[in-house]
Amino acid sequence: MKNLEIYIHIPFCASKCGYCDFLSAPAGRDVQDKYVRALEREIQGRAEAYAGFEVTTVFIGGGTPSLLEPGHIERIMDTLGRCYRVLPGAEISMEVNPGTADRNAVRRYYKAGINRLSLGVQSSWDVELKALGRIHTWRQFLDAYDGAVAAGFSRINVDLMSGLPGQTSVSYEATLRKVAELVPGPEHISAYSLILEEGTDFARRYEAGELKLPDEETERTLYGLTERVLREYGYRRYEISNYAKEGGECRHNVGYWTRENYLGFGIGAASLINNVRFQNGRDLSSYLEAPLGQREPSNPLSMAEQMEEFMFLGLRLTAGVCAGAFYEVFQRKLEEVYGEVIDRHMALGLLACQDRNGEKYLYLTERGLDVANWVMADFLEPSIL
Ligand code: SF4
Repeated sequence: MKNLEIYIHIPFCASKCGYCDFLSAPAGRDVQDKYVRALEREIQGRAEAYAGFEVTTVFIGGGTPSLLEPGHIERIMDTLGRCYRVLPGAEISMEVNPGTADRNAVRRYYKAGINRLSLGVQSSWDVELKALGRIHTWRQFLDAYDGAVAAGFSRINVDLMSGLPGQTSVSYEATLRKVAELVPGPEHISAYSLILEEGTDFARRYEAGELKLPDEETERTLYGLTERVLREYGYRRYEISNYAKEGGECRHNVGYWTRENYLGFGIGAASLINNVRFQNGRDLSSYLEAPLGQREPSNPLSMAEQMEEFMFLGLRLTAGVCAGAFYEVFQRKLEEVYGEVIDRHMALGLLACQDRNGEKYLYLTERGLDVANWVMADFLEPSIL
């Protein structure tokens, strides 16, 4: 039996946040209901092809999955459980927007088998939330958090963002501390920097000079604050933008970074199965009509592409990549393929090597993590001739 991670995309939101380029949009109850029925057909229709897999994690993301009726989530979970071999200890996460999480709904998610919630609060300041176009306040987040704990959730992630309009190092540090001081504390915190994505309202307003963002120096300060403050509260950075208490890492996302097989359901959902990448089409009406007929052509990865991904994704983890695992997958020594790149970045103090339990690991140093994209770009052309 092979391991399988499942991702389910819910492409609906109450309204569109100004910075967001995810595949999501507002939709009425009727469309939501049709979408869930289409999802059920897709989940069921693909089951036979994955009979040889055991599901280790499920992630219901979006969009705003908590915008659906709790009954929809129950139906999705029921279909998954009937059609796939979901392991008893599987991690089953769902994203919840604090503006759409009532206590009764959260209790029903828990009863339906969801065992990890991801709450996107982004900031503890209502003025910053408003500038982002978020539909909730900090108080609503606190209520959603209490509701999740009361429902029985012990595994909770909180999403934060830095580099927001009007954000200062003082306001960001207060956000970090307020989240880390929640009782009981969340086991996981994701902290991403705001990125201006092409085509978003933020990008348009920024170009028109209507949106002011923190300058580069403030951004560097905010970036540095995340690790320093969260460490004080016992959170360990295990990925460029992700922090967890001991044992609280998100197994689903670690699976992405270590290239586990994953299968996506819903519009735009991507998959990686046995080194073949494929993706569902992004058009909602076509999906509602024929959910099983929307896969775009698959793309078997060449050996060089697999190596690039192994390095590019693996180096995101602070544990780094294991040289032995590289050899096991590719039957090539890491230094034979990437020796020159490794030596160069080690000389610059951006990469380091360590022996752990008899295995050699290559990882980004603190300084390397700061310029991770620049370092990782050098792993894009393996010398495998
Ligand atoms: S709630 Fe999330 S997915 Fe929806 S528009 Fe806002 S950022 Fe995007």
